[in-house]
Amino acid sequence: MHVYSDSASERHVNRLAGVENPRRFPAALAGIERAERDGARVEWRSCRPAGEEALAAVHDAGYLDLLRELSAAGEGYLSPDTALGAGSWEAASLASGAACSAVESALAGETAFVVSRPPGHHAGRDYGMGFCLTNHAAVAAGHALANGLGRVALLDWDVHHGNGTQDIFYADERVLYLSVHQSPFYPGTGEAGEVGEGRGAGFTVNVPLPAASGEEVYAAAFAGVFVPVLREYHPELIVVSAGFDAHAADLLGGMALEADSFACFAALLASLARELGAAPLALVLEGGYNLEALAGSVAATVRGVGEEPPDWGYAGGVGPVERSRAALAPYWRGLG
Ligand SMILES: [Zn+2]
Repeated sequence: MHVYSDSASERHVNRLAGVENPRRFPAALAGIERAERDGARVEWRSCRPAGEEALAAVHDAGYLDLLRELSAAGEGYLSPDTALGAGSWEAASLASGAACSAVESALAGETAFVVSRPPGHHAGRDYGMGFCLTNHAAVAAGHALANGLGRVALLDWDVHHGNGTQDIFYADERVLYLSVHQSPFYPGTGEAGEVGEGRGAGFTVNVPLPAASGEEVYAAAFAGVFVPVLREYHPELIVVSAGFDAHAADLLGGMALEADSFACFAALLASLARELGAAPLALVLEGGYNLEALAGSVAATVRGVGEEPPDWGYAGGVGPVERSRAALAPYWRGLG
């Protein structure tokens, strides 16, 4: 596995977000190192800033200029929870650049994991919020399209809905966005009925779950919705918005997953990618705010990529999963 990281991640300070702090970066790295000690083969890679073209593929030029200006001024505010400091632009552009490099690793046959901050999936074309400045996973998907791919899946298991990612690709059939998240919860989007529009109709897949959902409910979301849709879509690459704030111990999320749950998600998706002849996974860190749970979950994810997938089936009867299946059935034979 190629792991991309840069100490610039530790120099981004968001004065408005106590939990999204620089200590998350060494905690996440400690998770990679733990997996390495346990036998995972890790190749550490350095990051380069995202190219202007890669950023401009998913963000408006004026918004990117604003981020650069605020960061250069040493202070700036985008939303009630999202601030920039002097190191913010460098951190965000290196994280988005690393996400592009992760795609290149995956297309060359190697699983890749970007360990960075700030997270990205709440950032849209011309807005930042929810601790996010640039949308690394979206930049990665855009980079894959620019490299000639025509079907990219972007699966988001962060406890929050990735409203920014959904917005960016809402009318785009070339990127299948799939999200499982706590609902009702911040940022308030991601209902089952939000399925995309225009050419993108059916290519946004939301499975909102009630608070306190554990691995069994997530297993139903994967087996009952994500896996059949992914099999039918047949992506050439799966990018993962890997947030770990659905861990039971998280400070923001209210879900009941354990670190091993993320190993199951990673094993399932890695195995599905192999089955479909897709590239290996390109994972990008999103949230995760309990430092020990973050480290343990990152370690489990790295381990999980190389493990046998869980034997998850869906027998029906899980309310939120049924609602998502019904909303998407007009678009996917496997859900009919
Ligand atoms: Zn989150």
